[in-house]
Amino acid sequence: MNQIKDKTILVTGGAGFIGSNLCEHLLEYNNKVVCLDNFATGRVQNIQHLLNHSNFTLIVGDIRNLSDCHKAVMGVEYVLHQAALGSVPRSINDPITSNDVNVSGFLNMLVAARDAKVKKFVYAASSSTYGDSEALPKIEDKIGKPLSPYAITKYVNELYADIFQKSYGLNCIGLRYFNVFGRKQDPNGAYAAVIPKFVMQLMKHESPIINGDGNYSRDFTYIDNVIQMNVLALLTENPEAMNTVYNTAFGDRTTLNDLMASLKKYLSKYDEKIASVEVIYGPNRNGDIPHSLASIDKAKKMLGYNPQYSMQQGLEQAVAWYWENLQ
Ligand code: NAD
Repeated sequence: MNQIKDKTILVTGGAGFIGSNLCEHLLEYNNKVVCLDNFATGRVQNIQHLLNHSNFTLIVGDIRNLSDCHKAVMGVEYVLHQAALGSVPRSINDPITSNDVNVSGFLNMLVAARDAKVKKFVYAASSSTYGDSEALPKIEDKIGKPLSPYAITKYVNELYADIFQKSYGLNCIGLRYFNVFGRKQDPNGAYAAVIPKFVMQLMKHESPIINGDGNYSRDFTYIDNVIQMNVLALLTENPEAMNTVYNTAFGDRTTLNDLMASLKKYLSKYDEKIASVEVIYGPNRNGDIPHSLASIDKAKKMLGYNPQYSMQQGLEQAVAWYWENLQ
């Protein structure tokens, strides 16, 4: 795959799960990387090994402060905007803070990127924008009504990006991530994502709780496929590929029951007792849609996307990483 090299790139939310993986990847190809993060959910251990790298600059700051955003974009050619408060339940519990960060913070970053005349603003959009649409697979231009404050914030991002491209000529590309997983995803806290949470619980022989009967399905997407999409979005010079959004997924779906079975299979290679840990079934969660599956045709056609990791391949790698790093 073609790589972006020798550029100066700001990664907001660069201490988080996806952002820190992006920082690491970009540094491997001799890019200068600026990371802006306030450590709201990001972790210093994700970027500890990068702090002394001569091409890495950490700015501890908040996207809710326009001056922090202006400082971060100084001298930058490209922005990968990842900073946000994730999690549907978090946004249901505290919609004001999610909105402040995800909408006002996003707008600040657009303004700063416009003022600094960056070449491209690639941002983390979300599959939650498909809302209550039951159509499968999800195709970019067919969305439903949002099912949570978080989904609204992510949809508003797309609307703002569109207006910034039309009004100010800022090249914007949104990547609608579908349930990303992999190394460095935080297993702790009330709003942890399902894969690291289940891995952690299984490793401790604690019973994981599946919301619902386990037949809900998701297009679980390995982090390296997401890195590829970000690189391709940065590289494209095709004007028709700009000012739009792309599903960022593998293009297959797995039920929670199948996910659990696979996790047990991979983890029991390290500890055979994990195979017999019991699973508990709880009520369905507010704001959850039953099924999610992406069409990745648009990304393939317009960006040359070619995901390298199936969910199973990614899961095996993620489990190995957690086993090594969380013991
Ligand atoms: P994460 O919580 O690990 O990373 C988010 C980062 O943003 C953290 O480092 C956090 O400290 C930082 N941040 C939060 N508020 C900030 C603020 N006010 N100022 C500066 N930095 C701030 O989450 P992630 O999974 O890596 O998500 C990255 C992006 O991808 C987010 O925009 C999220 O909404 C989006 N997304 C993620 C998924 C997924 O499955 N992980 C799915 C869809 C969309």
